[in-house]
Amino acid sequence: METIYLDNNATTQTAPEAVEAMVAAMREGYANPSSMHRPGQYARKLVEDARGQVARLINCQSSELVLTSGGTESINDALQGVCRVRRPRNRLITSPVEHSATRGACDKLRTDGIDVFEVGVDSAGRLDMERLEHELGDDVAMVSLMWANNETGVLFDVPAVAQLCRERRIPFHCDGTQAVGKIPVDVKTAGVDLMSFSAHKFHGPKGVGGLFVRRGVRMATLIPGGPQEMTRRGGTENVPGIVGMGVAAELAARHLPEMDRVAALRDRLERHILQTIPETSVNGAAGERLPNTTNIGFARLQSEAILLLLSERGLCASAGAACSSGSLEPSHVLRAMCIDFKIAHGAIRFSLSRYTTEREIDLAMEIIPPVIQKLRTVLPT
Ligand code: PLP
Repeated sequence: METIYLDNNATTQTAPEAVEAMVAAMREGYANPSSMHRPGQYARKLVEDARGQVARLINCQSSELVLTSGGTESINDALQGVCRVRRPRNRLITSPVEHSATRGACDKLRTDGIDVFEVGVDSAGRLDMERLEHELGDDVAMVSLMWANNETGVLFDVPAVAQLCRERRIPFHCDGTQAVGKIPVDVKTAGVDLMSFSAHKFHGPKGVGGLFVRRGVRMATLIPGGPQEMTRRGGTENVPGIVGMGVAAELAARHLPEMDRVAALRDRLERHILQTIPETSVNGAAGERLPNTTNIGFARLQSEAILLLLSERGLCASAGAACSSGSLEPSHVLRAMCIDFKIAHGAIRFSLSRYTTEREIDLAMEIIPPVIQKLRTVLPT
């Protein structure tokens, strides 16, 4: 049975070029990049070349890039690191549709006495900008908002948020994990102060990512214990992972124009589902969205049942956040958008990538309608 992989917001296939470079780095770049000898200096060069490749993808200086283990670590570093140096300001502004990495970091900050306030979204998942502006008082330590939503693909207006924050001298951290590699991300023109991202969302390896920290932004060190990463994050570098991320970043920059083709495939799939299956709707359709994501609500069904039948037919998708599958509660994102429970319970996220083929979409269009029809017939309304 063919695998049709439409779960790229959970993770992506590692680009073969990245795999090759990682294997070579494991073989030849095994030395410690902090060592003075020649093999150590070779490993250092691999790390710094990769840092440059990633910096070019998001348009920052290499010295503004802290290499980490991925999105979750970067987000925790950013939120805790900035809040710590901003006392006595003790308010953090975020949204109710953030990834669990941000939500978890906020829970931890609450226990440290930080007042976390969530600015709401409308039914299309768009941020209430007026409310955000209203909340940006003198007691705000920082703002943390995502660029692209992992469940719906809805984009926040990051440059507009950055401008509001800049005018008030409030540091703005953006979770760019789902945006990098899918849409043009330029930290300089966007005006963000900090941005988290993760290699495995743009065809790099898992367990490696980065945190952009604009020069001049103050933050505490979260992982002391070494001179690495300008003393911001101690520990011997994950050389092969960093090399793989560098190659993936370069490929992502080169292939970005292909996202138009991906958007056309996504739109074709979406149109077909809406036209052939009654009682379906696209969650977040009225918002500006990532080109690769569609979140479709199949009314009166449970997403787990749909996913199971799709998976039996080789189609990989997801019920919103991968980490929330297995739970019968509709996702916190769809709840924040006030999507009707009847629809939210049966929401499925299909997320494509530049590797997605026309044939995969044709097969998905064949597989999905009978699965929904079957479930609607056998399950009581
Ligand atoms: N932020 C968003 C929006 C994500 O989608 C994810 C991963 O799903 C993360 C953060 C966490 O990234 P990582 O898996 O690299 O820790």
